[in-house]
Amino acid sequence: MRQIAIYGKGGIGKSTTTQNLTAALASLSKRVMQIGCDPKADSTRMLLGGKAQATVLDTMRDNGSGGVKLDAVRHTGFGGIKCVEAGGPEPGVGCAGRGVITAIKLLEELGAYNENFDFIFYDVLGDVVCGGFAMPIREGYAREIYIVASGELMALYAANNICKGIVKFAESGDARLGGIICNSRNVDNEKELLLEFSRKIGSQLIQFIPRDNIVQRAEINRKTVIDFAPDSSQAEVYRSLARNIIENRNFVIPEPMTMQELEDMMVEFGIIER
Ligand code: ADP
Ligand code: MG
Repeated sequence: MRQIAIYGKGGIGKSTTTQNLTAALASLSKRVMQIGCDPKADSTRMLLGGKAQATVLDTMRDNGSGGVKLDAVRHTGFGGIKCVEAGGPEPGVGCAGRGVITAIKLLEELGAYNENFDFIFYDVLGDVVCGGFAMPIREGYAREIYIVASGELMALYAANNICKGIVKFAESGDARLGGIICNSRNVDNEKELLLEFSRKIGSQLIQFIPRDNIVQRAEINRKTVIDFAPDSSQAEVYRSLARNIIENRNFVIPEPMTMQELEDMMVEFGIIER
């Protein structure tokens, strides 16, 4: 069983990419569970036909931890994928990351892990890997990490910060970076920039995902691209990502760039001016 965390800045496309990836893996007969670790709780929505499901934390608040049944917080979606949303605290109250810890511990107690999964994915919010959002890698659940980024400055800045967090947790555990996923924002020279960034931090670009309106059209139909348009070129890209992850052997402790190096690289690629 491989447990994989997907990190990246908010809005970069983690949930879209993760759902299409798990759907692609399911279409290759893999048994998969996807756990959303973002208070937004929309990680698995397209796998479930657009239905918002009760989060682990909401259910706990309503029933107490003893009153939560696995069936109430875990639903089966496209391709048999088991879908969970950790949820978050009420806005303005408490630490969102704390919820991830509580939710995963409870899932374990409820026997959510006692199945023969090939893959478990954690779709985790965070520009930095801190607090509860570090939990999946800090406590040895996910040993494999992929970062979703694009050629925009803030996305790469976040990716680099996430690398700094991975270094910290890699020292005491065995969390390793498996690669960078570029979810394109149609920035000029984006693929070359992401190849260079991946190389500089000692990792690899595991997949370049074009920006494509088919993603929105699938979303309007409450489906992943894999489900909505399996013959599209975008679906093939997500299947390629799935195959690359299945075959990946390149796991490293990343070497984050300094702010200066990062800025110099962005100047070199014409993303920012000196
Ligand atoms: P995150 O989970 O990182 O916060 P989402 O996966 O929710 O981000 O993505 C934000 C929005 O970006 C989604 O509503 C989706 O429509 C859009 N999006 C993501 N990836 C692509 C893509 N490759 N092409 C077009 N739109 C995309
Ligand atoms: Mg998300």
